[in-house]
Amino acid sequence: MRRFELVTPGSVDDCLRALKGRGTEVQLLAGGTDLLPQLKNGLIKPATVVDLSGVAELRVLEGDAQRGFRVGAAVTARALERDARIRAIYPALAESAALVGSIQIRNLATIGGNLCNAAPSADMAPPLVALEAEAVVASGGGRRRVPVASFFSGVRRTVLAPDELLVEFVIPAPGPRSGGAYLRHTPRRELDIAVVGVASQVTLTDGVCAKARIALAAVAPTPVRATAAEQALAGQPMTPQTITRAADLAVEAAHPISDQRGSAEFRRHLVRILTRRTLAQALARASG
Ligand SMILES: Cc1cc2nc3c(=O)[nH]c(=O)nc-3n(C[C@H](O)[C@H](O)[C@H](O)COP(=O)(O)OP(=O)(O)OC[C@H]3O[C@@H](n4cnc5c(N)ncnc54)[C@H](O)[C@@H]3O)c2cc1C
Repeated sequence: MRRFELVTPGSVDDCLRALKGRGTEVQLLAGGTDLLPQLKNGLIKPATVVDLSGVAELRVLEGDAQRGFRVGAAVTARALERDARIRAIYPALAESAALVGSIQIRNLATIGGNLCNAAPSADMAPPLVALEAEAVVASGGGRRRVPVASFFSGVRRTVLAPDELLVEFVIPAPGPRSGGAYLRHTPRRELDIAVVGVASQVTLTDGVCAKARIALAAVAPTPVRATAAEQALAGQPMTPQTITRAADLAVEAAHPISDQRGSAEFRRHLVRILTRRTLAQALARASG
């Protein structure tokens, strides 16, 4: 491993000062569960590593069912999985956090690191897309908000510039009679990455689906929304027939590759199954 300078800022402003003008020679370190293997394997050779562990603002976790939530970029998967408010208001997010790695990994792995690493299989991305969350991004020039659905620009690439820091996610309140669910398929029960992941989020009004959001992982370079499936459910009662139709349409949003973990055809099959199951689970939760 190449030697590097370690910077330990105590605030977002300190952090931005450390990033300024250093381009890709600087890397941010949150939990390190993605970054450290990349450093050890020589895939990245930064001159400077900025350790985020001293930046308290990045660990904010506050809100409620009426206002929605602010979730700091450095909140760990374990904190999300265990938080009773997150489990009740955003069950899909809690479920995705609970699937990351092992307990030891989840005690380190952060939600911001999961999204900034931008693996197509990242588990916490689909629920944030389905919940219509926004990423708050800071740079020397101020702050901007990016819908999580637009945060990814390719495999392991995001819209973040080298001098930008992901500060937090703003997750809207789902509203009454809403429910969500996240499921993934892995050959092993634990310590494996998603062959396919699906998050569904629905809101009911007067017995029909007022809004559905469906997001897929590991079927394209970036997480994708199954918009045709969402539109097919809007204004319809959520019956086994309409859910099956939506699951069929979700397959059309998937553009998977074949690799050692599964063929493209198998992944399309998984999209259909997992969309149906997550919609049924989301409906059950929304029906309360
Ligand atoms: C054994 C093992 C099992 C795993 N299992 C899973 C799994 O099941 N599902 C899954 O999705 N992932 C899994 N992972 C991957 C990893 O644990 C997650 O992606 C984790 O959430 C990354 O978070 P981190 O805090 O460790 O990120 P880090 O490794 O610290 O950072 C990851 C990247 O994000 C950047 N970054 C971090 N924070 C910020 C910020 N605030 N602003 C801008 N850039 C930032 C870093 O510079 C780096 O490029 C696994 C990893 C291991 C080692």
